[in-house]
Amino acid sequence: MNDNKECPLCGGSAYFQSDYQRDLAFYICPVCGRFEHKILGNERNRFSRNKVASYVFYNRFLASSFPSEYRYHTFRTKEECDKYNKAFDKGNNVKGRPVHMDNDLIDAWYPKTFSERIDYIIKYLGTHIEHIGQQIAFSYPEMLSLLFIDRKELIETYTKREWIQRDKDTCKSEAKYIGFIGRFKHYSV
Ligand SMILES: [Zn+2]
Repeated sequence: MNDNKECPLCGGSAYFQSDYQRDLAFYICPVCGRFEHKILGNERNRFSRNKVASYVFYNRFLASSFPSEYRYHTFRTKEECDKYNKAFDKGNNVKGRPVHMDNDLIDAWYPKTFSERIDYIIKYLGTHIEHIGQQIAFSYPEMLSLLFIDRKELIETYTKREWIQRDKDTCKSEAKYIGFIGRFKHYSV
């Protein structure tokens, strides 16, 4: 099935192609790029989705790239990715070029401290602007991924344990705070 659906990582609208037999869906998202994800994600996975959203944004394979982009992020095993990449080299591009990712890899990449987070943002801006001081515009979901702002948070009480969507105003205040600390003037929120 091909359709437009809510992106499971950034919450925006993304092209969606399902493979229900394998519980896998292929997405093309303007924020997260090309990636493959499980269709039936459980609540436990939501925590890492905050991190995955930033990971795919920082390393994204945009569908709008020229020349055409065949790579996409996937949680498939490295062996399976190798198999599809070899097939691609032989001219079978049905599966594109899968690039393996997993929770360990994303955890290792994800900034551990606030200063590391600022470093990542500066590096990103440095490689995406041609001249120092230039402005660059980000959509709201792009800004959350760029600044490592969690979209969901875990609320625990005596009776329940639930992941809830953080409200836009709280996320925007966090973005303003990071902008103030990092002295970024490159984005507007
Ligand atoms: Zn997305």
